Amino acid sequence: MARSLDIGGDFPLLARRINGQPLTYLDSAATTQKPQAVIDAIRDYYERYNANVHRAAHVLADEATAALEDARAKVAALIGAGEARQIIFTRGTTEGINLAAACLTDRFGPGDEVLITEMEHHSNIVPWQLLCQRSGAALMACRVTPTGEIDLEDFHAKLGRHTKLVAVGHVSNALGTLNPVADLIDAANRQGALTLIDGAQAVQHVDVDVARLGCDFYAFSAHKLFGPTGIGALYGRADLLESLPPYQGGGEMIEHVSIERTTYNKLPYKFEAGTPNIAGAIGFGAAVDYLGGLPREALRDREAALVSEAIRHLKQVPGVRMVGEPSERVSVVSFLIDTGHPHDFGTLLDQQGIAVRTGHHCAMPLMERLGIPGTIRASFALYNSATDVERLVAGVEKALEFL
Ligand code: PLP
Repeated sequence: MARSLDIGGDFPLLARRINGQPLTYLDSAATTQKPQAVIDAIRDYYERYNANVHRAAHVLADEATAALEDARAKVAALIGAGEARQIIFTRGTTEGINLAAACLTDRFGPGDEVLITEMEHHSNIVPWQLLCQRSGAALMACRVTPTGEIDLEDFHAKLGRHTKLVAVGHVSNALGTLNPVADLIDAANRQGALTLIDGAQAVQHVDVDVARLGCDFYAFSAHKLFGPTGIGALYGRADLLESLPPYQGGGEMIEHVSIERTTYNKLPYKFEAGTPNIAGAIGFGAAVDYLGGLPREALRDREAALVSEAIRHLKQVPGVRMVGEPSERVSVVSFLIDTGHPHDFGTLLDQQGIAVRTGHHCAMPLMERLGIPGTIRASFALYNSATDVERLVAGVEKALEFL
């Protein structure tokens, strides 16, 4: 029988009441709620087969190792990576980008350029600033249009023979803009530049196929994909990963150690020093399984319809100003109110059980480009329903009475 679109019941937390009201959770761009299946998988690991992975000769360690590697294979399949060894487990998107930047630093020098955009999350800005500070390379940022899209003319003007790497977000966490990453990667490839895509906001909402995209790196976090916090994945092109130096030194990443020198383990372990987040990886795998059992197409269509409805209604509320009108958008509705500060407004919504996020959303250069201090952001996920839109719009109208 076809799975119903009403999946909210899979997420125990969504049944909570907040401030005496039913919860309308519209902060999934910050982190998604977790289905029972993910909670159970983590608990099952700790209850039945908790052990450290690899290098061991007992049943528990074998089971834990098999579960960790099974999760890696599932994550690889989710994003179309040809081989599981191309998936490095990280703490999340932030660590994935830092890992790539740290390991690439030696390849950069004065005269080289890294090209990002003004739309990036700080996680896709600061690691490149650090790379530039250490190597003498220059950081270039492509402009964003007033509607919240990458200014493609500026991108092509700034992409040149000095560009050694292009790092772009797949989806903007602040505005929901779905960027034309396939075209940007193509253009970068033609210039001979490496590419890294920050997929933190994309993987839940669009089908990602890294092989088809042709990017060199793709970073994302499990917790924005119904999985646990503290775990994510960095996909890397295998030959490139092979050629890079390790990220951190320690156990697991080595092949042989003497006091004088060390030889390194094969992929992906070369980049995974120390005991990994085993429970997190198992939870990540369970989240991928959970997603695989959903009617994703239909759920995404519904989510897109909810986002459009929310925008249509909010535009009609006097005193509400929408921020960003990208032609292709997923999940996020950002707006401002004329009469008050976003933070006070967020508190008034919270009193009604409506969870949104307010502020600069870790995208200060974007806020500066748009000339605003921050926004009120409602972000949708597959478990939201028409009731959430109704409650958001009614909640906004009510909150405006107080400001
Ligand atoms: N990039 C984008 C676009 C994000 O939205 C986020 C988190 O909000 C990150 C990177 C950082 O993700 P994490 O904090 O899971 O490392």
